[in-house]
This record gives sequence, structure tokens and C-alpha cells, in this order.
Amino acid sequence: MTQLTIGFIGLGNMGGPMASNLAKAGYNVVGFDVNPEAITRATENGVQASDSLLNVASSADIIFTMLPNGKFVKEVWEQIIDHVKPTATLVDTSTADVETSKLVHELAKSHGVKSVDAPVSGGVTGAQNAKLTFMVGGEQDAIDVVLPLLDIMGQKAVNCGGPGAGQSAKICNNLILGINIVAVSEAFALAEKLGLSSEALFDVASTSTGQCWALTTYCPVPGLVPTSPSNNNYKPGAPATMLLKDLRLAQDAAKSSDACTPLGNHTIDIFEDFIKDGFGEQDFSAIIKYIRANQAK
Ligand code: NAD
Repeated sequence: MTQLTIGFIGLGNMGGPMASNLAKAGYNVVGFDVNPEAITRATENGVQASDSLLNVASSADIIFTMLPNGKFVKEVWEQIIDHVKPTATLVDTSTADVETSKLVHELAKSHGVKSVDAPVSGGVTGAQNAKLTFMVGGEQDAIDVVLPLLDIMGQKAVNCGGPGAGQSAKICNNLILGINIVAVSEAFALAEKLGLSSEALFDVASTSTGQCWALTTYCPVPGLVPTSPSNNNYKPGAPATMLLKDLRLAQDAAKSSDACTPLGNHTIDIFEDFIKDGFGEQDFSAIIKYIRANQAK
């Protein structure tokens, strides 16, 4: 088995199982998190605990970050960059804004270090079951170094282009998702008003032009697909706050590139209202409750 040492910074809901899958595959994985509980969980699953960021930085050949957002990524990369091996490759798998992603690529480049952005789709179950999809951006020589590791943690890695292209793909994908979950919720709420059963609508739309992931994998009405958080009283899954974060990243990117995203903007308003009402920690598919609540009685 390979002697590469992998560093993993951010061992939360996603990073913890991703690091464990690398350890299970036989890699020497050294992990760090500011939350001691996250470290304990990861060590129970084969990851070696490190007591500091800098120890991970200096000991690893390939270093992953899986952090809440771009601000955290920038802070961590700035802290570690002077301490990594000159041959190291840095890989950010967090969902971050495109601008920050390009900035940390530049930081790595200015130190002669290879870097990749590789945000993911597939959620916590995808991370646990090594079924993630990676959206990969960076120089080809850097991507070549990390692809074998992405193959262990996921089922697909799409090469999206140069530095930041993975993050661009991620926010475009989640723009579709956010709009779709609202569209599917509106359709079921309308069907309820029309006296059409949810089962009938699902049977039709899932095999017709309304077909989409928000319907067939993540249906906001319980009892129609086994994988939906609605079956589990909308326990995440992915919390509404996280989808709102991604929609805002898309909105910022649209503003800075003069793209037109009116439905994305409206979807943000809807999720902001929903979260203001105290539903932020529910799965984002709970947005159907907001749609129903705003119908005329
Ligand atoms: P999380 O909050 O569970 O994990 C983030 C971890 O980073 C936490 O354990 C936190 O303690 C740690 N951390 C924060 N600052 C740190 C630092 N300076 N050094 C070391 N560790 C630090 O979040 P998550 O659900 O694992 O999501 C991580 C990223 O993945 C986010 O960018 C999110 O948008 C993205 N994502 C999440 C999902 C999902 O379903 N959860 C799906 C796709 C993408």
C-alpha cells in the first residue's frame, strides 16, 4: 500500500466520513478539527488525530480542507501555506465562493504548491458511502495527483476546467437544485388544492417532463421515495441554511459576472423568509411547508 500521508482539515459531517474512507483504503490519514468531538469520531474510524493545523501541514503529501465556507478556507490555507512540503498538493472540497477559490489557488501557486478545488455533491450519505460526485478545477498536473483519492471517496469526478471551475460548477448545480425544490413543492401544494393525490402527481411527473432529482430522490412529500428526508420529518439531509448559503454564492457570482438569475434571486427570498420563521435547521425540502403556509386559505 502507498506510503503517502494524507492531511484532512475539517472532520465534520462531510470531512469525517471522507477522511475515514481514505483511511479504510489503507492511506495514512492525519486529521485536524477545531472541534475535539469531530476528532474523536474520526479517530474511531481510522484517522490519526493531529494536535494542530501546522502538524498536518508539515507531515502530509496531500492536504484536504472540508470547511464551512470560503472565509474559513482562506484563513486555513494562509495559516498552513508556509509549513507545507514543497511537493505538497492542497485540495479544497468545501463549497466556497469562486473568488476565494481562485485566490487560494493563487496563494498556493505563489508558494510553488499544487492546488485543486473539488467541491462535492451527494450529501452526508454520499460521504459515508463513498458515493460523492466531485467537481474538479485546477491545473491538470495537480488534478492528476488527487484523482485516485477522489475515486476512493466518490463515484464520479468531473474535470470542470482551470482553478475555481469546480466551485463554479457546484454553485450552478445548486442554483438548479434550489429552484427545483421550490418548483416541486409548488406543484404538490397546487395538486393538494386541486384534489389531486400526491401519488398520482408523483407517478405522472416522475415519468414526464417534470422529472428531476428534487422530485425522484428528494421528494418534499413523505412516503413517495425512500431516500427523501421528508420521510424522517425533514431531519437533514442538508439544512435549509446550507442551501441558502449556496444560492447566495450563485447570486454573488451572477452579480459579479453580469449573469441574469431572476428565479435564483426569488428562491433566495423564499428561503430567507422560511429561515426567519425558525426553520433553518430543517432539511431544505421542508420548504413545502412555507409554500403551503402562504397559500390562500
Ligand atoms: P460541518 O460544519 O459539519 O463541518 C465543518 C468542520 O470544519 C467542523 O467540524 C468545524 O469544527 C471544522 N472547522 C472549522 N474551522 C476549522 C479550522 N480552522 N480548522 C479545522 N477545522 C475547522 O459542515 P459539513 O456539513 O461537513 O460541510 C462542509 C462543507 O461541505 C461546507 O462547505 C458545505 O457547504 C459543503 N457541503 C455539505 C454538504 C452536506 O450535505 N452537509 C453537501 C455538499 C457540500
